[in-house]
Amino acid sequence: MPIIVKVDICVGCEACVNECPFGAIEMKDEKAVIGDKCTLCGTCVDICPSFAIEMADEPKSAPTEDLSAYKGVWVFAEQRNNKIVSVAYELLGEGRRLADSLGEELSAVLFGTGMDAEAKSLIEAGADRVYQVEAPLLNEFHEDAYADALSQLIKKYKPEIVLAGATSIGRAFVPVVATRVRTGLTADCTALDIDGEKKNLLQTRPAFGGNIMATIACPNNRPQMATVRPGVMKRLPPDAARMGEIIKEAPAGPLTSKTRLVETIDEAGHRINISEAEIIVSGGRGMGEKGFELLREIADMLGGVVGATRAAVDSGWMPYPHQIGQTGRTVSPRIYIACGISGAIQHLAGMQSSDMIIAINKDPDAPIFNVADIGIVGDVFEVLPAFAKKLKEMRG
Ligand SMILES: Cc1cc2nc3c(=O)[nH]c(=O)nc-3n(C[C@H](O)[C@H](O)[C@H](O)COP(=O)(O)OP(=O)(O)OC[C@H]3O[C@@H](n4cnc5c(N)ncnc54)[C@H](O)[C@@H]3O)c2cc1C
Repeated sequence: MPIIVKVDICVGCEACVNECPFGAIEMKDEKAVIGDKCTLCGTCVDICPSFAIEMADEPKSAPTEDLSAYKGVWVFAEQRNNKIVSVAYELLGEGRRLADSLGEELSAVLFGTGMDAEAKSLIEAGADRVYQVEAPLLNEFHEDAYADALSQLIKKYKPEIVLAGATSIGRAFVPVVATRVRTGLTADCTALDIDGEKKNLLQTRPAFGGNIMATIACPNNRPQMATVRPGVMKRLPPDAARMGEIIKEAPAGPLTSKTRLVETIDEAGHRINISEAEIIVSGGRGMGEKGFELLREIADMLGGVVGATRAAVDSGWMPYPHQIGQTGRTVSPRIYIACGISGAIQHLAGMQSSDMIIAINKDPDAPIFNVADIGIVGDVFEVLPAFAKKLKEMRG
């Protein structure tokens, strides 16, 4: 739904130029012209005193440009403090599979200065090419500068698919990029595939409160853009012998930001990174408040972390950063031990790609057993103390 200016009605008053929150409107020959930074927020439509600006209400039903010009799969390699976040490597694993099935190349996009070793690690993780945009402003996250830099690259190179992590950074700026390049975006995907016939990207995500999984395609616009939850896709083992191309890009124009980063503060007490844990000992309502002490003890002995269901978090037994599921974290540890957890679909959405799931539940019909590799029908307060005792013996 683009915004259009009716040039015969526009009186050149510049009210829209002054009011546009994104600085997206300029005057040309005394008429307003909507630029690339437009996010379709509609402020100009509301503000125009002569009703010369409108939202065009006809959605596009067919491609308006040659889609075959778009080639290749891109992964945005998010970094924080010069360290690439785990989801970027996971997306390269998935991107490799998608690119191979399309017969196209896989590229990573990396922002920031002094990141040469990280660029190489992206090639080792599956990329054929890395576009490295080196600008000091991109060392830290600034939504407008990130959106400018990625939109410019997409317009220049025309990738067919662009993937990014559904992290707080990805969720903030990737929708802005999708708007700038006039395409769709499926947020928070849990599965991706290529349609065998039309070669469109099939993007699957939970819908209607997690009760159904919706598969979404974007047949008329390019690139096809998706954000993907951390922990859902599998990274490839790094291959130091892989060869690839690193292209250093300068931003097309000077990057600016309306924001200034004053300080970054870790959330006190929430330093666990459950998304990257290899072993998670997770508890549900069946554990009761006291049972979580036992889970902490076992997790410590195994070198893992404690996870929780929403029921346990809502009861105040564990803080929210430990919640696993559709409205919590997505995890894929080597071992997930589900204790007193029924296995509701919203919980499974966050943990079922774990390598091995061990479930303990006293109800033999609990749905968690449908996804468990090892199921123990029993009382957690009998099974877990026996397990903890055995672990202590093994550790001497
Ligand atoms: C929009 C939406 C989003 C949601 N997001 C999430 C989410 O992100 N994460 C999430 O987890 N949930 C989420 N939920 C909630 C979800 O639907 C379930 O209500 C929740 O996962 C249930 O948690 P539970 O398994 O701990 O509790 P219950 O479903 O009550 O299950 C408790 C289990 O413990 C077993 N049990 C009890 N006592 C013992 C014992 N002594 N020994 C062994 N087993 C025992 C019982 O047999 C039972 O199976 C969401 C719901 C909605 C509607």
